[in-house]
Amino acid sequence: MDPTDNNSKANIPPIQLDENSRFKFKCHKGVSCFTQCCRGINIMLTPYDIVRMKNRLQMSSEEFLAVYTKPELLEKTDLPVVTLKLLDDEQESCPFVRDDGCLIYEDRPTTCRYYPLGVASLSYKEQQKDGFYIMINEPHCRGFEEDQEWTVKEWRRDQGVDIHDDINAEWTELVVRKRSIPKNIRLTEKTKNMFFTASYDIDRFKRFVFESTFLTLYNVDPKTIEDIKKDEIALLRFSFKWLKWLLFKEGESPLSEEAAKLRRENREGK
Ligand code: SF4
Ligand code: SF4
Repeated sequence: MDPTDNNSKANIPPIQLDENSRFKFKCHKGVSCFTQCCRGINIMLTPYDIVRMKNRLQMSSEEFLAVYTKPELLEKTDLPVVTLKLLDDEQESCPFVRDDGCLIYEDRPTTCRYYPLGVASLSYKEQQKDGFYIMINEPHCRGFEEDQEWTVKEWRRDQGVDIHDDINAEWTELVVRKRSIPKNIRLTEKTKNMFFTASYDIDRFKRFVFESTFLTLYNVDPKTIEDIKKDEIALLRFSFKWLKWLLFKEGESPLSEEAAKLRRENREGK
């Protein structure tokens, strides 16, 4: 359900919406198109999507990434992202779609929650003011013929997507900012790998933090250490802050004094 992809397929220009825009829509098991939108789609996954889905399936993040995702480079950013790997059947079905709906409905990804809306910040180069939404008006979708009316704000709350957006916010901001950096400024392979691990492979990232020299190289206060040890959301938020420093070298350096000195000496060739 990549908005850009779907709209190009349907050849319908996207309608821009804001939080207060209204639309009519209802999806339920009685619609003739039930589950059609779960086939032949392109769903980019967010970091919090992976946490929800891998926990639902009782898998590690490494296992989940290996079985259910496909790596891609996000257009105009040079950043490695993942999309949901579709089945090799005639309709290219989502691996979680069944005749009676989504097998992991309560933990479905952000893009599925938004549908029939798309969030524009990751799909469009220019993010306007607070971002904007688009209507994915696919011809096969009969949900628009139903009578229930929503504002975008009500829909986001109803679908639980506001929680996903809140947790992913700093990560989304990183991706949007990276998109505005000139193309010729490329990331090293090491930085790309770090971005991938910190964004998607939370179990590996946890090992990186607690089982390497990370905590001697970076200043992390004891309360944060306690929090990220036991809370995956706290760990995810911590990883986004660390990525911000890694990609943009912004804000206070999280490097410990000793590590910063070593780094300076290395640069000066001492
Ligand atoms: S195509 Fe539209 S109405 Fe049909 S199942 Fe998907 S979201 Fe619901
Ligand atoms: S995750 Fe669920 S809602 Fe999303 S495409 Fe797959 S079956 Fe459909």
